[in-house]
Amino acid sequence: MLARLAGFVKEIRQRPTPPKLPESALLEAELQALEMFRLDMAEIELRGQELEETHARLDAALHTMPHGLIMLDADLRVVLCNRRLRALFGFDPDIVRPGATLAQVITHSVALGNHPGCSPAEALAATRSRLAHGVACAFEQHLADRRLLSVHWEPMPDGGWVCTYEDITARVAATERAAHLARHDSITGLPNRAALIEAMQTAWQKRRGCGFNLLCLEIERFQDLCDTAGHATGDELLRRIGERLGACVRQTDIVAHLRGAGFAILQLAPANPDLAARLAKRVADAVHAPLRVNGRSLLPTARIGIATRDIDLDEPATAAEEAVAEVLRNASLALTRAGQDGAARVLLYAPDMDRRAQARHALEMDLRAALSAGQLSLYYQPLVSVSRHCVTGFEALLRWKHPERGFVSPGVFVPLAEELGLIGEIGAWALRTACTQAAKWPQKVKVAVNLSPLQFLPGPGPGLETVVANALARSGLDPLRLELEITESLRLMDDERTKSTLHALRELGAGIALDDFGTGYSSLSYLRSFPFDKLKIDQSFVRGLPETESEAIVRAISALGASLGIATVAEGIETPTQLATLVAEGCDIMQGYLFGKPCPNDDVPAALVSALAPLSV
Ligand code: C2E
Ligand code: MG
Ligand code: MG
Repeated sequence: MLARLAGFVKEIRQRPTPPKLPESALLEAELQALEMFRLDMAEIELRGQELEETHARLDAALHTMPHGLIMLDADLRVVLCNRRLRALFGFDPDIVRPGATLAQVITHSVALGNHPGCSPAEALAATRSRLAHGVACAFEQHLADRRLLSVHWEPMPDGGWVCTYEDITARVAATERAAHLARHDSITGLPNRAALIEAMQTAWQKRRGCGFNLLCLEIERFQDLCDTAGHATGDELLRRIGERLGACVRQTDIVAHLRGAGFAILQLAPANPDLAARLAKRVADAVHAPLRVNGRSLLPTARIGIATRDIDLDEPATAAEEAVAEVLRNASLALTRAGQDGAARVLLYAPDMDRRAQARHALEMDLRAALSAGQLSLYYQPLVSVSRHCVTGFEALLRWKHPERGFVSPGVFVPLAEELGLIGEIGAWALRTACTQAAKWPQKVKVAVNLSPLQFLPGPGPGLETVVANALARSGLDPLRLELEITESLRLMDDERTKSTLHALRELGAGIALDDFGTGYSSLSYLRSFPFDKLKIDQSFVRGLPETESEAIVRAISALGASLGIATVAEGIETPTQLATLVAEGCDIMQGYLFGKPCPNDDVPAALVSALAPLSV
């Protein structure tokens, strides 16, 4: 560079100078030229520095980018490749380096096991054929160690290529996990309702199996188990049931967990009710085998509803959603009916179930309107004391007189009201009405009102204690004349709130009777949990009299009552023989058709007299 500068100065000096220019002017020109040259050099140096910095930045970016990158020239030789690419494929930097041919790179890659099942020639041919199109392409590449790469090849204007590689193994796994969770139940790991529906719709669209045999089953008393043994035990039971169901079916069948205690089994096969019923029987038996869960011995039982349907090849594939919904609805309708009102516990869907479901829906609608329409009333049935020879009180029993249906039994509408959340309102009405009507009866005649266990649960309205207190206050009935009957229910007494409500009711002055004694879950432990005033021996024992077993039970209950200082009442007495046996066994208070059927309030005065007739015989 210095030599070039010296040459330049020499050239200026040798230029023919106009004679009028003095030596100083010449020197001035030389100096200006030199300054310009210096400035040029500084500029070049600055540019060089900038270029170097840009290079360094690009280099840093290239080697720290998360994607692997390789650049090929038009002859498919490596122009550059970053560290990430070498790390992804395990490339040796001495082999995969600028100048290496595509064949060298691929042969090396195959030797490293990056192209499972491919020879170097095959891998090279596949790569070349992709590149031959000369257009950008994107695809996924599996490596031998199960990693998955997302690959992008981009052609350059000079005929070369820029190829990037991204490891998407973790991302794909996370997406798959999320998709699995969305379609599977987290407790049992089984497909959920959405997955079952999807499988059915796909089968319909593809005409696969040409039909559905669907079983919907429910594990009975599951909620009770969760309430008493805890949800961990409930969850473990569901897992074990899921395993049992899986062992009952073929590999092609689908076992799904729909919700809580509800499972489904789907066979993709032509509709065959007999086959489905046989499978259901096998499933019911498999479920009903003893097992130990978290230290508890359990004997689960299942109810099963079955629905079958052929896929008619003439039906359009677009009808899938409707057809699947229909099969599911039918199977769950059959499940609802299974075990109800004496029906079999494994039940095949029948078209009349639809009608029943609609009828029930209509009943629900009517019941919602019954209270405000004034269709509910109370009937009263006398309770008679044998020793005192008097009517001690009446039990208030709900009656629903429907304009078209006639009388609907409380055995039907009370559970329905409980289910619909109407029992609080109806129960409060019954308390108010019973207290108001009884307040006008002769002094000392009590009134007994039935309470549903659900009235003890916290709800939107005032609490039970307030409801009772208000009913007493508004009617002016002496609280000592009010008796409240509760039935045994597994969950009721486990709850401290229930016990404190019962104590509060007792504080108000009301008596508390335990109804239908002997039929519930834990009659004896009930007696320990609250000091009841009365035990009402369930009518099923009375009906059996004078048969010896029933007599023994009645005797035991009266003895139990006597030793605990609790009065025993016998209900459902229809014959003088039953009465005689009960008296002999130490029962004093009697209730039943023998003394009088439940009657309207207007007939109470007459019943006060007629109820005593059987005692005079
Ligand atoms: P429960 O409280 O055990 O009432 C006794 C039932 O036995 C009444 O049936 C009564 O009519 C019937 N009964 C009485 N004596 C005889 C007899 O000698 N023979 C026969 N076969 N039956 C007799 P009902 O009135 O049909 O009530 C059925 C159940 O409905 C009641 O059983 C009670 O659990 C419920 N219930 C009735 N009223 C109410 C209410 O106001 N609230 C609540 N939560 N439940 C009620
Ligand atoms: Mg009762
Ligand atoms: Mg009863």
